[in-house]
Amino acid sequence: MNPFDVYKKLPRKNCGKCSAGTCMAFAVQLLRRSARIQECTELDEKAQQEIESMISGPGDWKERRVLELFQELSERNFADIAKGIGALAENDGLRIHYLGRDILLTHTDFVEPLDIFDKLLILMYVKIAGNKSLTGKWAPFRDLKDGLIRSESFHEACEMSLAKMFGENSEALLQKMSALGAQAVSGFSAAHSLVAYPLPKIPFLVLLWQGDDEFEPDCKILFDSTVTDYIDVEALLYLGIALVRAVGS
Ligand code: SF4
Repeated sequence: MNPFDVYKKLPRKNCGKCSAGTCMAFAVQLLRRSARIQECTELDEKAQQEIESMISGPGDWKERRVLELFQELSERNFADIAKGIGALAENDGLRIHYLGRDILLTHTDFVEPLDIFDKLLILMYVKIAGNKSLTGKWAPFRDLKDGLIRSESFHEACEMSLAKMFGENSEALLQKMSALGAQAVSGFSAAHSLVAYPLPKIPFLVLLWQGDDEFEPDCKILFDSTVTDYIDVEALLYLGIALVRAVGS
């Protein structure tokens, strides 16, 4: 079961009545067990039951995938890949800065407790083991390799969610971004332009505009042109959702 299967069953109205704010973010929260299906008042009872049975089905793909990824990494020498991905090899482990936290993983587990989606994202990043210099050329999600197919989901789950938070309390959002290590940058036409690194070689350029009488608050997120050398677009979508969750918590 993955978030898109759940998302397809949701009303996809992005009405903002649930705590997640958008349907895609709500689908992820349901799979994380951090939201209750009853929060979506747009669903009838039959659809609620269908989704309940989907997310409580036997076997947890996430746990299985984490085990598979550790298996795939078992022969990998962390010292060989650490520099390329902006991490530090430490004894038999790897220390990675992830969403404002220092995370240590060994060849068998994570040292600190971590949400299962966060584990998956870090393991996929380590497995791909990118090793490119950032170019400083920024690209929207839809222009990335295979990005078009997920660009609407990314817009709904990430850009719309951040724009909504910015409209509700801009200072709070900017403080949360700063706490994650985001730095203001110049040269863009947005009211606020920030670069955050949810993973060391994956900068997010977050552009925020205030709303006015005519326009809603807006947000655009751009990526370094090397991003798909470090992570695929599906994982990048989840990384964006993890960023939104971190600043929204
Ligand atoms: S999941 Fe949330 S945003 Fe989507 S329709 Fe239901 S209440 Fe609205």
